[in-house]
Amino acid sequence: MKKIQEPCFFYNTGGCYNPDGSPKSESECKYLHVQINKPVEKGQHLRAPCKYYHLRGECKNKLCLFGHIELSYQKWTWYFPNHFYPGKGYTHAGPFKKGCKWVN
Ligand SMILES: [Zn+2]
Ligand SMILES: [Zn+2]
Repeated sequence: MKKIQEPCFFYNTGGCYNPDGSPKSESECKYLHVQINKPVEKGQHLRAPCKYYHLRGECKNKLCLFGHIELSYQKWTWYFPNHFYPGKGYTHAGPFKKGCKWVN
């Protein structure tokens, strides 16, 4: 596999996993499994977004394997076509709480 010469985002943010939940080894990942100190660029090989986190505003699963990174409008409408996009910055917004209005 051809390596992308960039550090793996997931490796640096809690772990790089296969879709079945098993840890991904360096040879299985397109990105480099090296520890870096500076903030990693988001949006590499993103996992599917976490429904609870994005639609409910919280996810109680500390070991959640799904993405908790704010979605762009395009990504949101791709994953959640039946839900309104709450607006840019929604993961930081006040109403981003359990039971907020935009969850139907
Ligand atoms: Zn990786
Ligand atoms: Zn989650």
